[in-house]
Amino acid sequence: MRSLGFKPRGGAGAKTLIESFRYRRRGPGMMWEAAADKIKASGGRIAMDRRFEKLIFDPDRRTWTVETIGGDGTSETFQARHVVSSAPIPELLAALSPTPLSLFHARALKYRDFLTVVLIGRTQRQWPDNWIYIHDPRVKVGRVQNFRSWSPEMVPDATSTCLGLEYFCSEGDDLWGMADGDLIALAKQEISAIGLLRGEEVTDACVVRQKKAYPVYDETYLENLRMIRFELASRFPALHLVGRNGMHKYNNQDHAMMTGMLTAANILAGRTLYDVWQVNEDAEYGEAGVSGAREALGSARLVPRRVA
Ligand SMILES: Cc1cc2nc3c(=O)[nH]c(=O)nc-3n(C[C@H](O)[C@H](O)[C@H](O)COP(=O)(O)OP(=O)(O)OC[C@H]3O[C@@H](n4cnc5c(N)ncnc54)[C@H](O)[C@@H]3O)c2cc1C
Repeated sequence: MRSLGFKPRGGAGAKTLIESFRYRRRGPGMMWEAAADKIKASGGRIAMDRRFEKLIFDPDRRTWTVETIGGDGTSETFQARHVVSSAPIPELLAALSPTPLSLFHARALKYRDFLTVVLIGRTQRQWPDNWIYIHDPRVKVGRVQNFRSWSPEMVPDATSTCLGLEYFCSEGDDLWGMADGDLIALAKQEISAIGLLRGEEVTDACVVRQKKAYPVYDETYLENLRMIRFELASRFPALHLVGRNGMHKYNNQDHAMMTGMLTAANILAGRTLYDVWQVNEDAEYGEAGVSGAREALGSARLVPRRVA
């Protein structure tokens, strides 16, 4: 609307998630590669490609035994004084020993899943937006990422384009279960229909499925989270929840990162200097700009209530 000269009344700008931000030349992964190098350079060890199987807490010694399994099937055991987890809460609680009573509440937490059909192509037409939300009822795609606008280094040359067509879905539903070839055909047809790229301009494509992309704020999540946090604080004091699914909180990357940094500060200090559940409290987002309830648990945002 703005590009058509539409001026919103009241002086407010167009509602958008964010107007400007810094972005690594070849994506946010670069930041974590640099962080990993720093950790290793200062003597730290990073053990990748392992998933935790069991987290056993000894309340008398206040220590953890962490059992992991690697991608190659190798089992390992680590001893630790603290465990910081960014894994989805239901997976974490299912691995805890002794079994938490609030596992029932963890299993009640819900997620929205997501898949991206990446269309790679050649076109003379470029557009400046990083992302566009699609409201056209003729198509299923919900948002299109324009990776070239994120950074020109995300594509090989000036006529290359790479668009990510994002479909919001649930694991196991019709869209999720579609074959990759069918999803690519759907994406090509939809991108033509909305006029951002012609099907014949597409030279390559791939599909990325992301489970648990969004923690769902349903009418029971706050109470479930309250029960989980209460039990973890009293029975597993050396367990720290951080991040997005780790806290079942709609954190963006900066806030997810901040919860990790403040948790590290708390551990180093040996006491709670920062309440990490307050991170995100003052965040202002476009999607949060509607009226609604702000509940009292930490920084929970809008809590929908079921319509009778
Ligand atoms: C579609 C989409 C678009 C987004 N766009 C933006 C954006 O533009 N800007 C922004 O700031 N944020 C964005 N976000 C949010 C951002 O991705 C998250 O906030 C951020 O990745 C959360 O970081 P995290 O460390 O909490 O979790 P993650 O990045 O999900 O990391 C959790 C880690 O835990 C690991 N793990 C899980 N279970 C186990 C286990 N059993 N054992 C071992 N490891 C395990 C996972 O493999 C993963 O590496 C977006 C998210 C989505 C889904």
